[in-house]
Amino acid sequence: MALIVQKFGGTSVGSIERIEQVADKVKKHREAGDDLVVVLSAMSGETNRLIDLAKQITDQPVPRELDVIVSTGEQVTIALLAMALVKRGVPAVSYTGNQVRILTDSSHNKARILQIDDQKIRADLKAGRVVVVAGFQGVDEHGNITTLGRGGSDTTGVALAAALKADECQIYTDVDGVYTTDPRVVPQARRLEKITFEEMLEMASLGSKVLQIRSVEFAGKYNVPLRVLHSFKEGPGTLITIDEEESMEQPIISGIAFNRDEAKLTIRGVPDTPGVAFKILGPISASNIEVDMIVQNVSHDNTTDFTFTVHRNEYEKAHSVLENTAREIGAREVSGDTKIAKVSIVGVGMRSHAGVASRMFEALAKESINIQMISTSEIKVSVVIEEKYLELAVRALHTAFELDAPARQGE
Ligand code: ASP
Ligand code: MG
Repeated sequence: MALIVQKFGGTSVGSIERIEQVADKVKKHREAGDDLVVVLSAMSGETNRLIDLAKQITDQPVPRELDVIVSTGEQVTIALLAMALVKRGVPAVSYTGNQVRILTDSSHNKARILQIDDQKIRADLKAGRVVVVAGFQGVDEHGNITTLGRGGSDTTGVALAAALKADECQIYTDVDGVYTTDPRVVPQARRLEKITFEEMLEMASLGSKVLQIRSVEFAGKYNVPLRVLHSFKEGPGTLITIDEEESMEQPIISGIAFNRDEAKLTIRGVPDTPGVAFKILGPISASNIEVDMIVQNVSHDNTTDFTFTVHRNEYEKAHSVLENTAREIGAREVSGDTKIAKVSIVGVGMRSHAGVASRMFEALAKESINIQMISTSEIKVSVVIEEKYLELAVRALHTAFELDAPARQGE
């Protein structure tokens, strides 16, 4: 008999019909003998609706009050599911974050979990009840309701699994697992059986938005096996776990991530003296703009060019900060480009294989795709290219690294 935490997202509890379906599923699982803690999101669209209500009163709602309102979405779904379970003869009880006592710090709208009291839940499990817990919310030491940031129910699920030392945390969603890349771009993309926490973090932060990034960090830190599964289709999903060295022959690359969220800025003819990087990026970070990739060239006339990427939403702001800097330090010009995309190959197998980057560059060269920037880490190589070549690049790389699913008979 195992202890499993199951988290269902907003679309999985988006209507009464869906909630009844989730109840059927939970019942079946329970009857198979496992102890279950179920974490729920609000009905899909509900959190946005609540935020919108607040915004109709004021552009800048008091963060504490915003938490009071947005936390209600989850309170509705947990009660409905508990009722649906009881209706089916499955003993169940629902708890808000406060009732469990999911203690957080006091950073409203982006609180961090400090401690979880497991006593009540353990007692209920022992008494044979399914425990249904509101995701996304907690309470601070003064009794104020807090929330964990958008998508925070994933983190609630993982944190509960860690606190209860559950055997697995299952995240039920509207996809049947984590794919080698976005199947809308590459129809031959495959579901991964297994992926490591590290790889998942790279895939998630690079745009494969299956799981809240924080929940994966949390799961990695406490070594909670995480499984992503489809809410209503049968299947093994994808297991996210630690890297087991001795596991079977691993592919070098596990997946290809990409995003179109970035823009590129270049400052040219910068006097090349110690401290220039700080002079250029200092004001950018002082303006709260996050920088992703950075490239600096040294040219022969004692000036340098400096290129970096920021989120596209911050492009205009970064551009004007950079123009000020250019004037101050006597740089020649500032230019920029919003029509770029970033493509990354991700895999722990890279650690033990040489030549992975050059294989990537070769594949892109064969398609005549120009690489504008490159960055590497231990388990990732990223390139910036022109946005219009993004899909071609992802497909070419998917094939080059032998990730394509085998064609089915007759195809
Ligand atoms: N309901 C919250 C949101 O929409 C939390 C979650 O769904 O994970 O962000
Ligand atoms: Mg979600």
